[in-house]
Amino acid sequence: MAKKRTFAFSLLSIAAILIAHGGYRVFGMLFAFDKTAPPVKLTKVEQGAIAESVASLLAVQGPAALPKDRPVDTITREELRDHVYFLASDSLGGRRPDDAGYNIAAEYAASQFRSAGVRPVFTGADGTPTYFQKVPMMRVTTAIDHPFTLSTAAGDKVIEALDDLRLFSRGPSISKVPMVFIGYGISEPDHGWDDVKGLDLKGKVAVMLIGAPLRDGKPVLPAAVHKSYQGIPGIGRRVQSPGLRQNRPDALVVVLDKEYADVWDILPNVLGQPQLQYRPGGGPGRVTVPPAAAALVRGAQAEAIFAGQEYNPLDIPSRGLAGYKTFEFKDVRLSLGIRAAVEDFESMNVVGLVPGTDPALAGQVVTVGAHLDHLNPAGGKIRNGADDNASGSAGVIEIAEAVAMRPFRRPVLFCLWTAEESGTAGSRHFLSAPPVPVDDIIVNLCLDMIGRSDPDAGKTRKHYVIGAAQITPELKAVIVAVNAKTIGWPLDFESMESSMNGSDHYNFHLKGIPTAFLFSGRHEDLHAPTDDAEKVDFEKVQRLSQLIYEVTAELGNRDKSIRPAAVQKEPATARF
Ligand SMILES: [Zn+2]
Repeated sequence: MAKKRTFAFSLLSIAAILIAHGGYRVFGMLFAFDKTAPPVKLTKVEQGAIAESVASLLAVQGPAALPKDRPVDTITREELRDHVYFLASDSLGGRRPDDAGYNIAAEYAASQFRSAGVRPVFTGADGTPTYFQKVPMMRVTTAIDHPFTLSTAAGDKVIEALDDLRLFSRGPSISKVPMVFIGYGISEPDHGWDDVKGLDLKGKVAVMLIGAPLRDGKPVLPAAVHKSYQGIPGIGRRVQSPGLRQNRPDALVVVLDKEYADVWDILPNVLGQPQLQYRPGGGPGRVTVPPAAAALVRGAQAEAIFAGQEYNPLDIPSRGLAGYKTFEFKDVRLSLGIRAAVEDFESMNVVGLVPGTDPALAGQVVTVGAHLDHLNPAGGKIRNGADDNASGSAGVIEIAEAVAMRPFRRPVLFCLWTAEESGTAGSRHFLSAPPVPVDDIIVNLCLDMIGRSDPDAGKTRKHYVIGAAQITPELKAVIVAVNAKTIGWPLDFESMESSMNGSDHYNFHLKGIPTAFLFSGRHEDLHAPTDDAEKVDFEKVQRLSQLIYEVTAELGNRDKSIRPAAVQKEPATARF
């Protein structure tokens, strides 16, 4: 497939995406029994027909075939609600992988697997079977050891208050570096706009505005291009552009206007909250320093930067382009000392197996996964991650319980990964030290956010399925057919394809394994302290979990494996 990348999936993933590019580290009814419905009166003929069909069912399969005993019906809204309310409770503190709250979530999931008869697949240090797979990680703490200082002929002005600064990305320390205002920092020569043409940014700090230019309130660039430069994702787009890649400054300072007041608290900030990263191979963690630091500033700090310069561009977004131009700062240089410390730790994946019933298919493993972790508090508020991803974790727990009741021909591994929010560390480690050969894994179904609907999903509450349409049309065909036959939930396979690298399934994709990723879309509570259990649509969580159960049943029981025998592999360039 033509691999598409997005810079919009999450604020925090922007940072990781950009590392991969050598740039700055700037960067998801049919059987709706209605208990209140009045009893339906049946004619004698109908009663006879029903009695006959029930008798024939009993004769062939025994009482277990009665609808109320179908495993899929054990995936109830009540149990899903219980799981989500527990996992997304304040007591678990947001389930960050280096915190006790995450370990409690992992113990909870393991106990659910155990009581459902889902088997452990790993061996613990004491030689006993365990559901836990240790994942080597490190905690990188960034501090400022030389404050943000503006040096002028009149002396140094130290900006002590860091309330108006977010260090988006670490980088080398800088000392008395000249500054250049690069306007919007947009280089779109094909559309007649190039802010960086003719500027030499090497050895300098580039200062720029967020957003894209407006003239008389209207976008100067074509609508789609204009949109791509909005918000934090738009910063990533600039940094990726040839104009800035080939002419890279030593540091980037992005000045934000009032529009960003609402999201200020959840903007990425490497100061004050440790960054969690995977330690591939499990050796001692080492800090890698990205080529350039990037900071977001606002308010008094932004004003201080422009003080005494030929004009103050801070009101350009509101007043339009009159007087707009780039300039070299006069008589002022910027210093900032950045220090990072590393501490190793281990988090864990929770993995359980329901063995298959057909020995001939034992080497064809279906995986169903979801990430169990979430994020640090932001602005002092716990980010409970109810949709992201207590919803998907609850789904995996319930699907596992249903599959364990009546196993399929193929084995099914149920995976709850740690540290998806920290570079998909858990699934990366799972695939680097898998409990079964990677070549035996025939498919990954990934549930990352299954309980909300973004504004574009509208009243239909449609859900996005990413990866299947472009890459594995056969998997899409299976999902469509199974959905039509069973749950009938509105699915959208196209709109979010650009988020292909948005979650753990992507690591499976990179190994040539067919994947489908269920995603709520980018709703307003994504990664915010407001992603709480009260807002979750539990009918949706139930129906989508039942759908994935049915898809797993089809992939687990059909004669033909969903994974093609000879797989066309992508070049091994993970996004992180
Ligand atoms: Zn997620």
